[in-house]
Formats: sequence, C-alpha cells, structure tokens
Amino acid sequence: MSQIINVEKLNKSFGDLHVLKDIDFEVQEGEVVVLIGASGSGKSTLLRCLNFLEMKDSGDISLHGSLVDSRKDKLNEVRQNIGMVFQHFHLFPHKTVLENIMEAPVQVKKLNKKQAKETAEDLLNKVGLEDKGNVFPSRLSGGQKQRVAIARALAMNPSIMLFDEPTSALDPELVGEVLHTMKTLAKEGMTMVVVTHEMRFAKEVADRVVYMHDGRVVEEGTPEEIFENPKEERTKQFLQSMY
Ligand code: ADP
Ligand code: MG
Repeated sequence: MSQIINVEKLNKSFGDLHVLKDIDFEVQEGEVVVLIGASGSGKSTLLRCLNFLEMKDSGDISLHGSLVDSRKDKLNEVRQNIGMVFQHFHLFPHKTVLENIMEAPVQVKKLNKKQAKETAEDLLNKVGLEDKGNVFPSRLSGGQKQRVAIARALAMNPSIMLFDEPTSALDPELVGEVLHTMKTLAKEGMTMVVVTHEMRFAKEVADRVVYMHDGRVVEEGTPEEIFENPKEERTKQFLQSMY
C-alpha cells in the first residue's frame, strides 16, 4: 500500500492559541480514516492544513511520498488532488447543478465542455441525482446539495477526499442519504478522511478511528479498538458523552 498523506510533528497556532500540537498523522491509499473529538479540538484545522487552506507553523506534510514545500510548490496544483467537502455546501447559487460540477474541470483543468459534461453526468448518476442536472441549488434539499458538493469534488478526480462534518448541517432525515453516498465511495476504494459525530458510520465504514483532544492525537485504532476497548481515559469520557 502506498502512503497518500504523511504528517509529522505538525504545529499550528492562531495567535496565542496553540491549536495543533505535534500531530503525527498518516493515511494509506484506500484507507478510510474517521477523525473524532470534541468541538474545538482542532479537527477542522488539521483538515485545512492538509489541504493548505491553512498554513502550518512547523512540521512536515508529505503527499504521495514527497514533502510539500509551500514556498516552492504550486499549492493550487497540490489542492487539485485533494477533494474537500464542508459542512455548508458552498455551491455556486447562480449556476445549475451540472455547471457547478463542470466549473473546476473546465476552468482549472481546461477540460473541454463536452467531456466535462459527460463526467458530471456520470457523477450525478453516482450520487443518485441524475435528474437534477439542470436545476439550481436553491431547488435542492440539504442532502441533495451535499451530494452535489461531493460530485463536484470528485469531478477533479482527487486522490483523497476530506470531509468536514458533512452531515452536521442537515435535518436528521437527510443524513442517511449523504452517509450512503460516502459509504459507496468508501467501498469503491476512495481514500477518505472524515470528521464526523456519526459514530455508527465510523463503526461501519472506518478502517481507522483517530481521537483528538485539545490539539493532540490521544488515541487511534480500529473501530473495535476505539469503541469497544478504548485505552485512554479521555477517549472513554468522550465516547460516553456521545451516547
Ligand atoms: P474542531 O474542528 O475540532 O471543532 P477547530 O480546528 O475548528 O476545531 O478549532 C480549534 C481551535 O482553533 C478552536 O479553539 C477555534 O476557536 C480556533 N480557531 C480555528 N480557526 C481559527 C482562526 N481562523 N482564527 C482563530 N482561531 C481559530
Ligand atoms: Mg470543525
């Protein structure tokens, strides 16, 4: 198996607030890693550092085995390889669903429109929205919007997908359809890092669960190890608070 992401001794502060503390974190090709932890523990900041939306203060980030140097490497090219899905969907409101999905492949990758449209249609099919290509996002439910956001990220053919609480903004009855789409992706072998409070999803889909507290990785292991037999007191307390 090859390593997609490797992070060593990552540190990040906002002013006086030390948010990520000596984080070591790796993701292998095809792996689904679920990141759990209380609000404020640094999960989003870690994802944003992986995607260079946020710049680390110190530490090393390697992608596909090569160290990323944010001063020399073209970060836009690095980012193209990393799909990101946020809690809020960030769709372009004045573009149709198909146009949303085609935007980056056409503008950034310079794909021709016909090709981009075919890919977008395939992806809509994959997320179960083949009949929504020509509607505007305002006509979609939250769950449908999030599935479009997933299709849009996939359109760049990323080697890894990062999800930051993708179901937290959804009405409860819409959570399942988004988790189902993510499960399908995982089964197809997509490499994924998922921040979520959906513990059932973590149990069913994760290869590895990483628990963060106060800017540190406290414990990681298989879902069985973390949920059935956590070693650290912190982890036990957190899991109890989730039920
Ligand atoms: P989580 O996703 O686990 O809830 P975050 O990574 O969002 O945690 O936040 C970790 C800490 O960093 C929090 O205390 C948060 O308020 C702070 N923080 C996050 N982003 C910023 C920022 N851009 N500026 C200042 N503080 C921030
Ligand atoms: Mg967060």
